[in-house]
Amino acid sequence: MEFGISEKMQIVLGMIDEFVEKELIPLEPEFLNRPFTDLLPVIAEKRRLVKQMELWAPNHPKAYGGMGLSLVEHGLVSEALGRSPLGHFVFGCHAPDAGNIEILHLFGNAAQKEKYLGPLVAGEIRSCFSMTEVNLAGSNPVLMDTTAVLEGDQWVINGQKWYTTAADGAALAIVMAKTDPEASPYLQASMIIVPTDAPGFNRVRNIPVMGHCGEDYFSHAEILYQDCRVPAGNLLGPRGHGFVIAQERLGPGRIHHCMRWLGICRRAFDLMCHRALTRQIGPGKTLAHKQIVQSWIAESAAEIEAARLMVLNAAWKMDEEGNKAARREISLIKFTVANTMQRVVDRALQVHGGLGMTDDTVLAFFFRHERAARIYDGADEVHKVSAARQILRGYEGRRVR
Ligand SMILES: Cc1cc2nc3c(=O)[nH]c(=O)nc-3n(C[C@H](O)[C@H](O)[C@H](O)COP(=O)(O)OP(=O)(O)OC[C@H]3O[C@@H](n4cnc5c(N)ncnc54)[C@H](O)[C@@H]3O)c2cc1C
Repeated sequence: MEFGISEKMQIVLGMIDEFVEKELIPLEPEFLNRPFTDLLPVIAEKRRLVKQMELWAPNHPKAYGGMGLSLVEHGLVSEALGRSPLGHFVFGCHAPDAGNIEILHLFGNAAQKEKYLGPLVAGEIRSCFSMTEVNLAGSNPVLMDTTAVLEGDQWVINGQKWYTTAADGAALAIVMAKTDPEASPYLQASMIIVPTDAPGFNRVRNIPVMGHCGEDYFSHAEILYQDCRVPAGNLLGPRGHGFVIAQERLGPGRIHHCMRWLGICRRAFDLMCHRALTRQIGPGKTLAHKQIVQSWIAESAAEIEAARLMVLNAAWKMDEEGNKAARREISLIKFTVANTMQRVVDRALQVHGGLGMTDDTVLAFFFRHERAARIYDGADEVHKVSAARQILRGYEGRRVR
């Protein structure tokens, strides 16, 4: 393992920390209390500043206008950005675009790249990823009712998806649909690029999640594909290779989430420590004098540090040996960091008492929105089963005394 931070990266991280502190955190009261679309003009201005500072799209290749950082470097950047819910969006490295850009980069043909890659990386358009279905267990993705049938030179797509994050306002969806139902289970589905203005693409609603429907980028939609027609050339990658491509997308996608969650941990931890030191609970006594709060602070510090090292280790392995070699590490960090984040945010919220429940701090937003971390991109249990299987394989036929 080698996590040495170059001088250049130290400067970059300093600039990002300062930008988050001065430009993004002050926007949060508006972000938490007004529709997101009200904020879009000011966000466009912040994005312009980020581009001017040459910090745009840290994770994307330089050839496409990004910074071309390694995964370890991006991990450090992502942690800094994750302190604010606006960080990744303002710096152009937000999900689900980041993952979609990655698969377009790897599997898109020249025409698809020309049409979508440039505008997506530049943040001029947005995209979404439409795989999970309303009526089937998303944890077993081969269960899929959505079909795409080739009629002449068009795909005709039918199905009902939900939790298509950020579909509201997106220009295109990458849709998983069964194109080859007679093939073996993992070769039945393909990915198809569907412009959201295609006939038959119907966004039914933004789903209420923890009491909020959200809007625009901060939303999750239910989508009905009703005889939705797109050109045959919109197939992304080889026919029947939907799951192969999904694996390419999910590995880096999962570690990106973990890196962002570390930032949330840091912010919640900072807020918890500040509140503990400043909340008077008696003459000359603050919450920081209470052993139970001290215990939460110490436990949180240890858990965050452990999670951080696990994430950097997984990133380093992916940089050095590729995504496949780090499958076990990715499963381990996915459930570990999600649970660490949930505990740290919960403790920080508890230390804030009634204030923690309001939207006067960012904690309640994190508490509501990030609960999903233990469900999306593979629920905790699925990753535990996967990691355990891989670990046990290493013990098969091995004598242990
Ligand atoms: C906020 C949010 C955003 C999302 N964004 C997207 C998106 O952009 N695009 C998209 O396509 N999907 C998205 N999803 C969907 C997400 O990927 C699915 O919710 C997830 O795959 C789980 O599927 P499910 O909800 O059908 O739960 P199910 O598969 O029904 O599982 C329910 C529960 O069963 C348990 N379980 C499942 N399998 C096992 C197992 N093998 N062993 C033990 N226990 C198990 C787990 O506890 C799991 O939480 C999003 C979901 C959320 C909550």
